[in-house]
Amino acid sequence: MSFFSQKVNNLKPYIPGEQPKNKGYIKLNTNENPYPPSRKVIKAIKNMDLKKLRLYPDPESEQLREVYAKYLGLNLENIFVGNGSDEVLSIAFQTFFADKIDILIPDITYSFYNVYCDLYNIKQKEIPLRQDYTINIEDYNIKNNGIVIANPNALTGIYLSKKDIEKLIKKNPKSIVLIDEAYIAFGGESVSSLVKKYNNLIVIQTLSKANSLAGLRVGFAIGNKDLISGMNKVKNSINSYPIDRISQMSAKESIKDKKYFDKIINKICKTRIETINNLKKLGFNCLDSKANFIFVMHNKYKAEDIFLFLRKNKILVRYFKKPRLENGLRITIGKPNDMKKLIKVLEKYINEREQKK
Ligand SMILES: *Cc1c(COP(=O)(O)O)cnc(C)c1O
Repeated sequence: MSFFSQKVNNLKPYIPGEQPKNKGYIKLNTNENPYPPSRKVIKAIKNMDLKKLRLYPDPESEQLREVYAKYLGLNLENIFVGNGSDEVLSIAFQTFFADKIDILIPDITYSFYNVYCDLYNIKQKEIPLRQDYTINIEDYNIKNNGIVIANPNALTGIYLSKKDIEKLIKKNPKSIVLIDEAYIAFGGESVSSLVKKYNNLIVIQTLSKANSLAGLRVGFAIGNKDLISGMNKVKNSINSYPIDRISQMSAKESIKDKKYFDKIINKICKTRIETINNLKKLGFNCLDSKANFIFVMHNKYKAEDIFLFLRKNKILVRYFKKPRLENGLRITIGKPNDMKKLIKVLEKYINEREQKK
């Protein structure tokens, strides 16, 4: 017997990457930014009038949305904010896709999408990536009630151009096209400005990755006024005060300090190129990434075996035991020194195997 509802009994929740309790690990497994948040964020939190925590926060997060709207060149009414983009995605799926069929999602992508589909009674249709892990937008020209794409794609890091995404939006005027841009700042071009032109586009962004604020939990949806008002209807049916005072206040400081996050993004992109070059020398194939992670496969050795060896050597990366992914590892780009250690341990792994022969 179970006290749970049927729906809960059948749920298969998302499993996030490990957050180890013990220290001493190099964490290259959850795509966190290795650099600290802007000093302006830290200063603002330190100077905050904490007595005000007695009061509820602004239910509309108006100042924060204003700052983000300005940053994107849009209006307040185009911006929705939630507790991390996971919550924003959850509300978007409820608002636009609940109880619908034929929602098109790539077969390899952020695995949270399938969890929301189960939770909100959505029947998704998985569209396979090409053999080379790219998305073929022509495959989405079929009957559908919505399209969800992470750009750059989760797990692969592969990016679709703004032109390609615009084609998709134009071809599907009766469907919501949801573009999850969690990693867009690491080399891609956002489609957020297109919300002025199309009423069927929803763009999801987050401060967790580029702005180095995964611990703050702030994410956004960007869309035309009507779409955002639908999301607010759902939000206000669940929690009218989702963003706490500390987050509302400090997120603003991060967004305004573009100079700082551009700087850390540049460093990460540079380290990404160096890491790919070094991995290639060791016999790895790397997918072409425009994110703060890379997906790599060795031409000789099993990914699971390498994953366990790295773990034993205190380096955490992500391994997925799933078709088409089980030959690869997803590695977050850390600081140059972290990546040097990674390469050292991989060299050790390969040397040990070669000697056994
Ligand atoms: C990390 C990630 C998110 C979630 O980020 P939040 O921390 O909840 O803002 C959303 N989508 C993708 C594709 C991600 O990789």
